[in-house]
Amino acid sequence: MTGYLSEIYDGIKSLCAGLGVTLKHCFRKPITLQYPEEKPALPLRARGRLVMPVDPATGANRCTACLLCAKACPNGSLEITKAVGEDGKPKPRAAKYLYRSGNCMYCNLCVEACPFAAIIMSDEYETGTRDRESLDADLAAENHELKGSKLSWWLSKFKGEEPS
Ligand code: SF4
Ligand code: SF4
Repeated sequence: MTGYLSEIYDGIKSLCAGLGVTLKHCFRKPITLQYPEEKPALPLRARGRLVMPVDPATGANRCTACLLCAKACPNGSLEITKAVGEDGKPKPRAAKYLYRSGNCMYCNLCVEACPFAAIIMSDEYETGTRDRESLDADLAAENHELKGSKLSWWLSKFKGEEPS
């Protein structure tokens, strides 16, 4: 009989302990988000889709078509066409900067290879699509504008204040 009562006591004790834990978590600040209605605040170094931002000081991108990023890309995701002047000589800018995000693995190696901080991994991560063609983009033609803290962070990279 004593053993039977002891088991009932242990059961009630264990139930109360479990309910206590549940009650404690009811008043905790949630650590999850109701995505996609709620979006997370991403860290500056988050690696979303690659972009080629416009430098606010010049109104143009900073790419010189040196091709170092394309050579650094392990997946062949970048294809750059140099601009050609009226004299038929190549110019230090990209006429087309083809980025195939469909086979990009977001490794950041192209960004690290660029000596002019001309490209950056953006905060754009909702890139899923059923249209494979739409995964290819000419970054030089996009005239992507960075904003807020991401812009300040990118500008500081020109001065060597921030590593890639
Ligand atoms: S992030 Fe990596 S895979 Fe994507 S384009 Fe750059 S180097 Fe290539
Ligand atoms: S993005 Fe940078 S590394 Fe790539 S071609 Fe332009 S200047 Fe060169």
